[in-house]
Amino acid sequence: MDSYKIKSEKREIPLIPLRGLSVFPYMVVHFDVGRDKSINALEEAMVNDSLIFLTAQKEAKVDIPTPEDFYKVGTVCKIKQMLKLPGDTIRVLVEGINRGRITEILKEEPYFESEIEEVIYEIDESNKEIKAMMRLVVERFEEYVSLGNKISPDVIVTVDEIKEPGRLADVISSYIHLKPDNKQKILEAFDPYKRLEVLHIILEEEIEVLQIEDKISNRVKKQINKVQKEYYLKEQLKAIQKELGEGESLEEEVLEYEEKINKIKMPDEVKEKALKEVNRLRRLSPASAETAVIRNYVEWIIELPWDKQTKDRVDIKKSREILDKDHYGLKDVKERILEYLAIRKLAKDMKGPILCLVGPPGVGKTSIAKSIARSINRKFVRMSLGGVRDEAEIRGHRRTYVGAIPGRIISSIKKVKSKNPVFLFDEIDKINSDFRGDPASALLEVLDPEQNSTFTDHFLEVPFDLSKVMFITTANTINTIPRPLLDRMEIIRVSGYTEEEKLEIAKGYLVTKQLKEHGLKEKNINISENALRDIINNYTREAGVRSLERSIATVFRKSAKRIVEDKVKTVRINSGNLDKYLGIPKYRYEMAAKENQIGIATGLAWTAVGGETLSIEVTPMGGKGKLQLTGKLGDVMKESAMTGISYIRSKAKDLNINDDFHEKQDIHIHVPEGAIPKDGPSAGITMATAVISALTNIPIDSALAMTGEITLRGRVLPIGGVKEKVLAANRAGIKKVLLPYENKKDMEEIPDKIKKRLNIVFVKTMDEVLDHALVTEENEHEN
Ligand code: ADP
Repeated sequence: MDSYKIKSEKREIPLIPLRGLSVFPYMVVHFDVGRDKSINALEEAMVNDSLIFLTAQKEAKVDIPTPEDFYKVGTVCKIKQMLKLPGDTIRVLVEGINRGRITEILKEEPYFESEIEEVIYEIDESNKEIKAMMRLVVERFEEYVSLGNKISPDVIVTVDEIKEPGRLADVISSYIHLKPDNKQKILEAFDPYKRLEVLHIILEEEIEVLQIEDKISNRVKKQINKVQKEYYLKEQLKAIQKELGEGESLEEEVLEYEEKINKIKMPDEVKEKALKEVNRLRRLSPASAETAVIRNYVEWIIELPWDKQTKDRVDIKKSREILDKDHYGLKDVKERILEYLAIRKLAKDMKGPILCLVGPPGVGKTSIAKSIARSINRKFVRMSLGGVRDEAEIRGHRRTYVGAIPGRIISSIKKVKSKNPVFLFDEIDKINSDFRGDPASALLEVLDPEQNSTFTDHFLEVPFDLSKVMFITTANTINTIPRPLLDRMEIIRVSGYTEEEKLEIAKGYLVTKQLKEHGLKEKNINISENALRDIINNYTREAGVRSLERSIATVFRKSAKRIVEDKVKTVRINSGNLDKYLGIPKYRYEMAAKENQIGIATGLAWTAVGGETLSIEVTPMGGKGKLQLTGKLGDVMKESAMTGISYIRSKAKDLNINDDFHEKQDIHIHVPEGAIPKDGPSAGITMATAVISALTNIPIDSALAMTGEITLRGRVLPIGGVKEKVLAANRAGIKKVLLPYENKKDMEEIPDKIKKRLNIVFVKTMDEVLDHALVTEENEHEN
């Protein structure tokens, strides 16, 4: 290294050996002086130029040092301030000026007088090696500071600004905490580059030690923290438990559980598992999360009706009485149910099929299931499957999930407290399956008599016997019931009601029920038959009686208010004042009295919520023979429209239609009204009729409705849902209904009153349909 020694100066100044302290040049420091010799040295210095040579004693404990006891290299310092402290001590503030080496001790009494050689190096600050060295040292120093020494970050800024290498080393050295011999090493490095090197090595060592210290202390701190936290929490818990009067031990609880479990007659497997879980409580602290989980589990086990069931009533006569008392009509349904019960009575263990009540909403499916339970003296529980898509809803969550509970089947069983209830799965046609598993397959297991004696809920982990349960299901339509489920069930259709039937239900059941629910007496309300009829016709339009019941409830609610507020004794409701209670009528059934129109035919459709009339509109337009279909139509309906068009093409001549209509005209078929997609081929003849009317400009009888499938040759094929459709036509004020000839057999279902009111015509071919539907001058008078 090229550093130049430019100056070497000698001076004679007093000397003080310091105990446990080294002073570096540029360092400002104070220390206390008590030894006589040192005080003498200070006094001598003060009379001259305030300079003093400070050097460290090799051994701090030596009280009266000789020159051998102190280092030869130290610092020439300037005394800045002196303060006399009580008890002959003096506090001195000094500033380090320059390092120096003792060349000779001139005298030892009354103080040490020394000859000092100061060597001053001038160094080339632009030298790259030096610069690099400086940077390294500063970096190490920063690291040293960052390791949490009590050095203010400002110091780094100060250090950063130092340009002279030697000074840098000295300033840093004065800040860091070093062993005396290390300090001395730095002090003795006169060459600034050398000094930086020495400092660098020392810093490295220090950093390493600090890092290790840090690691150790972190580890220790963590341990202490954890222990402390647990300790605090435990203490808090103890305090809370004390407040709540809970004991320290779970033993009492465990014994109680054991007693309860032993009392219940349950399968050995379950008992074993339950007792095992209870026993685990013994080893846990009352407050641990696991204790709560086990408690929850054990309580579920204890509360399930393992050995509780109701005794069946096996009196068919009595059952019939109850069914009749609860429901008007439904003759076939009741008969079927009684047969079912009789078979169960005869062959106790016969696993009969599951009953599935299918029909539109509000026709009494749920309430008849409830009635079945009542008639055989069983508890009743209902679970709606509408929108259930998660298998866990049926089978429960595994206990590893936080907050896990059993599925809804086990929950329901626990709620009814009986293992042989009538269990109703409502809306089995609305169950969905997706990525959360297939609820249908779980349900299949539940409904399968071969499997359901060992139904295992994920939460319970032990089987529960569902074989004593009487399952009944309901659905609006069988179309969307998963096939394997459908195969297990016996379908009982519950169809919609006629106006007369609704009237009977209202008079005999709904009025009484609603009176009771509103706390009214019979004498309080007098509702006329005509008023009920008006509600049925003008305020509701439904296959069942749900809105009817709701409307009656509204009327009674408002009546109750009058009785209480206006002190009216008896409220009379009749056709004339019904609108005061229900507002203006919502429906008018005279819609069929509209004029006969070209291209508009009335069809009859069957949907999941009952029968419906639908008017089909057709407009031919100039074009290229495109067939356009709009409205909510299913694929089958589209195909049947195409079949109709093909039929028309083949018969164009007979029908007086241009036989190139399919090349020159676009035909637009629209099925308005109703958001329910209509599917099925039963609109075939209706669409064909509307198209023919539009192409021939012959109007269609508006008081006529029709339903039937069409073939390419114009034959009319049978369709389903006849009763619902005929009822819908009747509701809509239709006078004449065209039905496929082969549906004649379904006439049994139709009440005589309706048969009398409606002109029902059975047709075999499209020609017959057109004869009835198209209003030509010849047949106008017949209709
Ligand atoms: P669903 O389950 O078919 O949708 P609900 O069982 O909920 O229908 O029936 C709706 C209401 O109509 C219930 O209050 C029910 O008692 C009543 N109800 C339906 N059909 C009859 C009937 N034939 N006789 C007496 N009340 C009936």
